[in-house]
Amino acid sequence: MKKATARKSWRNHLWIVTCVYFLLGLYNIAFAWLGLIFFVTPLLLAIFGGNKAFCNQYCDRGRFFRLLGGQLGLSRGAPMPGWMKSGWFRYLFMAYFFGMFGSVSLATWLVASQARAVDGAIKLFQALRLPGDWSYSAGLLPPWATQFAFGFYSLMLTSLVLGIVTMLLFKPRSWCVYCPMGTLTQMICKLKNKPQPPAAG
Ligand code: SF4
Repeated sequence: MKKATARKSWRNHLWIVTCVYFLLGLYNIAFAWLGLIFFVTPLLLAIFGGNKAFCNQYCDRGRFFRLLGGQLGLSRGAPMPGWMKSGWFRYLFMAYFFGMFGSVSLATWLVASQARAVDGAIKLFQALRLPGDWSYSAGLLPPWATQFAFGFYSLMLTSLVLGIVTMLLFKPRSWCVYCPMGTLTQMICKLKNKPQPPAAG
């Protein structure tokens, strides 16, 4: 019993991971690569475990929104509109999100093949450039890896901003309803746990 409570209490503090990740990225963009952990871990758990353990237990982002919206009371707590919960919106948003990931990968490849120089900017929605030099990038990484880091950090920041806006407007964890990783892992779990047809004969 005590052990279970202790486990729960350290998970309640996982929101710190979100804060540390974004601060480290501002300090040096090389740290943006750490964000791949948040991409790969839920996928591995869904593919090999057939479950959403990451969402249910280990996701720092979900805890971050719960802290801001729930414990700190920043959320209006209104229900989300039905269309935002619908399948078509969640799949469309997932496609859009992975489309942005595709554009990050393309930019990385162009820099790696020396077709263009590094674009050292942090951009919301891969288009809205934040003013100023937000992150130090020199020295640690080769140019292609620096490009990926800027693009990936931009993607993570875009999803954070969307999550904060939906947390303010609706219930604290409304982002989880249309989070692309949540949608993708749900799809994988459904496929993995699909009842098998009885063997013929
Ligand atoms: S849906 Fe997304 S943000 Fe929410 S718990 Fe799952 S991975 Fe985290």
